[in-house]
Amino acid sequence: MTYLDWFTAHAAKHTDLMKKLENLSDDEVIRYFRFENMAEKERDFCPLYSENTKCHDTAELNCYLCACPHFRFNDGGFSIVEGKTLFSICSIDSAEGERYIGEHTIHQNCAGCLIPHRESYVAKVFDRNWLAMMGKSPANGL
Ligand code: SF4
Repeated sequence: MTYLDWFTAHAAKHTDLMKKLENLSDDEVIRYFRFENMAEKERDFCPLYSENTKCHDTAELNCYLCACPHFRFNDGGFSIVEGKTLFSICSIDSAEGERYIGEHTIHQNCAGCLIPHRESYVAKVFDRNWLAMMGKSPANGL
């Protein structure tokens, strides 16, 4: 599955869930997306829920912004850097992120970055339309 395939499928899942939550306020929606609540009530939303495992090792994890609005991926590669294909980047070059450099590839490593999983951040850029929110990255000037 390409990143675009995953992104498109996730957007559809998100849209379906938001229909179910349409009577909740924005704050209630954000709280609904807390890992503990989602793992209990929306088991199919993320494969990690059935394993009761978090994608980031942190006490407070909000799943509304999976994926991150700052993450950029190109299945064909953005460029060649020192002989390696650069597949993904962070548009704000977050100090919490890193780069994974393989033999032939470079990928953005978001494992240590909690920016999109903090509720203060989710509230700041919140949109009930997840796809629109993905385009609200400050890096895009929106
Ligand atoms: S490093 Fe952080 S801000 Fe940058 S793309 Fe990854 S999760 Fe988003």
